[in-house]
Amino acid sequence: MPWRLRSVPAGTDNRVMAGTSWRKRIGRAEALTVQYPFAAELLGFYVRLAGCQESLSLGLDRAPAGGFSDPLEADLLLDGSEPFLLMAEKYGPSRLADVARRLLSTEMQSGWSDLLDATWSATEHMPSEPQDFLARAFLQPLAERVRLQQPAPRGGTDNRLCPFCQRKPGAGVLRPLGDGALRSLLCSFCFAEWDFRRIACPNCGEENNKKLPVYTASEFPHVRVECCDSCKTYIKSVDLSKSGHADPVVDEIASAPLDLWAHERAYAKLHLNLLGL
Ligand SMILES: [Zn+2]
Ligand SMILES: [Zn+2]
Repeated sequence: MPWRLRSVPAGTDNRVMAGTSWRKRIGRAEALTVQYPFAAELLGFYVRLAGCQESLSLGLDRAPAGGFSDPLEADLLLDGSEPFLLMAEKYGPSRLADVARRLLSTEMQSGWSDLLDATWSATEHMPSEPQDFLARAFLQPLAERVRLQQPAPRGGTDNRLCPFCQRKPGAGVLRPLGDGALRSLLCSFCFAEWDFRRIACPNCGEENNKKLPVYTASEFPHVRVECCDSCKTYIKSVDLSKSGHADPVVDEIASAPLDLWAHERAYAKLHLNLLGL
């Protein structure tokens, strides 16, 4: 059975399609800033970051020629480096702002290119340092465009890594289906979404539902903290059957208090989000 991917119909301009999704995320982040004042600072930075990503995406005036296993086509993006790093320096949390300032200095110009090359090819590497998050956010518009150029891979529902770029998922998604909901995973890099078994750990594959507790909080009735007691990881899933306006990327970021809750209970996040949370 082919992946149930929300792929682009033939003839659709990929650039417009990608640009539209950034706009939607920005709109959702602005709406949540009002709804969740405690997340206003995080979301305020996300709005700036996504605005920069949108510009990078719309600035890609040539389609990437290669795929994820090819070297990074850095020339497609590098003009956007300075505005991106200046935005991070001005509006980012201090740990990101400090790194952006260093990367903007003349002696670090090659450091930024090296970092981008390494981030593009390091599918196994889990981002953990501030520069990793900056590089991932900067490359994400290109990753989305590369993915939109690829044919949909074929496969089942037990793929724990993105079938396009081989990264770990950054969030889960539940979409309404009949009386229930269909579960999918959302790539932390290229935004691919692929079906995944409803009862299974996306890290170790555990299928015993007694070892897969799910927690929710009244502040976020549409966000589930899906834990695994076998490997002690968790992923947050956004339930679109409970909130049709939710956006998996944005609502995952806005529900940061749930991450604190999970960390206090010794669960490690399967993959940190763009803001390093
Ligand atoms: Zn991917
Ligand atoms: Zn597990």
